[in-house]
Amino acid sequence: MNLQCRIELAAKYKAGSQIARVLSEDWCTRELYCPACDSDHLTGSKPNNPAVDFACATCEQPYQLKSLSHWNPRKVVDAGYEAMLRAIRADMTPNLLILQYSSSWLVRNLLLIPKMFFSESVIEKRKPLAPHARRAGWVGCNILLSEIPSDGKIAVISDGVPVLKEQVREEFSRVKQLAEVPPSLRGWTLDVLRAIRRLEKPEFSLQELYGFESEMKSLHPQNQNVRPKIRQQLQVLRDVGLVSFVSPGSYRLRT
Ligand SMILES: [Zn+2]
Repeated sequence: MNLQCRIELAAKYKAGSQIARVLSEDWCTRELYCPACDSDHLTGSKPNNPAVDFACATCEQPYQLKSLSHWNPRKVVDAGYEAMLRAIRADMTPNLLILQYSSSWLVRNLLLIPKMFFSESVIEKRKPLAPHARRAGWVGCNILLSEIPSDGKIAVISDGVPVLKEQVREEFSRVKQLAEVPPSLRGWTLDVLRAIRRLEKPEFSLQELYGFESEMKSLHPQNQNVRPKIRQQLQVLRDVGLVSFVSPGSYRLRT
């Protein structure tokens, strides 16, 4: 994998954001493979959905690219808040690629968030644009990367070193069954998975997960039955192959 973007493509453009977009999109179509199947190419794809920058011609997985020169591992700015919530509820979010480039246009980091990991819990509403702004009152959102469980943050390039393609595909494949969980339920599934990850151990108990009860209540204020919901989501996580049941009340993360 050649990590250098083609700097000569920048000559036609003036705005920094436009240059970043052109160079990084060109890099992806040249160097990037599909993490979801064994296709070694992604193709540029715009006409139907403005949120989709690339698609895989083989498995049809959609990808959106965000390119940045500064890397904030906690959050990334996204588009409109309401549009994002609609996309999550309709299960229409693309997989997200976050690309960080260096001052010499080398790809330094590339992080893949599989689309199943976008839930309302990881979307932060931003302040409406000020009255004098061109789009006054418009409300954008941030994607809270810190709230996404590690299972949903797949490094493709890490500190200037490409991760093995086989490993990236294996990590994607490990979580792909989450797509079978309906989006109305998946927010809960991901919240429970994130709680499990925060325990930072491979084996855990139901009692330990109940420790997140009040936090989950505040994420889902309309739901009063948090404990049964946690137990139900453990079954969902078992069915999609991410958790195994060891004995009553005790569980193990599958890797
Ligand atoms: Zn594919």
